[in-house]
Amino acid sequence: MGARARRRAWPERVFLALFLPGVLAFYAIHKYPRVVLDLVGSRDGTSVFHLAGKAPGFWYASVYTALVCGTCLWILLGGRNQYQAKKKKGPLSRYQRSKFLSILLAQLIAFYLVPYVLPALTRPEGFFQDPVAVGGKAAHVYVWPAFTSVGGAVYIFLVIPLTVWFFGKRYCSWFCSCGNLAEAVGVLPWGARWVRERTPRGPGARKVEVTQVIVLLFSLFFGVMLLLDGLALATAEGLLQSVAAVQDLFIDFAFGSVIGVGAYPLLGTRIWCRYGCPLAQGMKLVGALTRSRFAVQPNDKCRGLNLCTAACPMGIDVASHAHRDKQPLEQAFGLDDTPCIGCGSCIESCPVDALAFAPLVGK
Ligand code: SF4
Ligand code: SF4
Ligand code: SF4
Repeated sequence: MGARARRRAWPERVFLALFLPGVLAFYAIHKYPRVVLDLVGSRDGTSVFHLAGKAPGFWYASVYTALVCGTCLWILLGGRNQYQAKKKKGPLSRYQRSKFLSILLAQLIAFYLVPYVLPALTRPEGFFQDPVAVGGKAAHVYVWPAFTSVGGAVYIFLVIPLTVWFFGKRYCSWFCSCGNLAEAVGVLPWGARWVRERTPRGPGARKVEVTQVIVLLFSLFFGVMLLLDGLALATAEGLLQSVAAVQDLFIDFAFGSVIGVGAYPLLGTRIWCRYGCPLAQGMKLVGALTRSRFAVQPNDKCRGLNLCTAACPMGIDVASHAHRDKQPLEQAFGLDDTPCIGCGSCIESCPVDALAFAPLVGK
């Protein structure tokens, strides 16, 4: 854990009691509607879960987008640095303004209007007539979609590596839909405390990050199987179905969705990003191969206050790069040695401006 976790007040406890079952129920209905109906003994079709003719996925995306975009607007219009202590909040930096504007636009356009609103507006049946579809999440964070479409391959093997080369893993804090929610929740009063007090930290927590390598290997294995099957070069239908079922149940449903979102109040906002997301592990490899210039650089102003470590949602011990026994170390770190996503929380939270991103171009 991070800083000593304070006792939760009763409104937060009530929220917790509703939030965790709510996330579990939503994803169960979204992903396995038939199973849920069978469990409750209903003979109705899966459209019983529709509300005003719209599928559960639409409503979930609407709430998700409203939360992310509403928080971004609050941050941008308020203009205060939410990473600093309550009474000392300075103005929001240009970096954070750009980040929250990027999150707002990405979430609204790429992850809401394009997939959920525009197609429904052009359907002959009308906007409020969603078809009954079992929710699948072929999100590109899983890597295997790169093996099933040219667009997916270009995105994962070309676009993402280029962004990593030039900007480090800022994709994760400026654009990705999962990251958008994490960044937004991380500046809300409860969310900031979950990051500070619940994020797993220390050498043991770092070692567990190896799970992400396992998920990447699994995702690549699944992708190659799908490619061979798609090209009719080799197929093993039973095995393919079993691997798909494992991917759906354990990686997408249990890890990526229920734990990835439901565990925010228990383990901070970036559990999936740190221990699960195979794309993040792929980005780390690309960063090492391309010798990305991305790095956080401490300077000689560090006073050993350790606020930077507590602010990091990825559980990085930022202060150990900045000082030893309160003597400045000035040890830069980047993609090779940490899972840093370039969110800038550590930089914003340091009261003496002892941290900055190293220049991406130049010497
Ligand atoms: S680690 Fe994966 S899920 Fe998290 S923000 Fe990055 S790409 Fe998205
Ligand atoms: S970098 Fe800033 S917040 Fe971190 S230990 Fe040094 S003075 Fe404290
Ligand atoms: S080290 Fe700083 S920039 Fe990197 S993930 Fe942690 S808080 Fe964000």
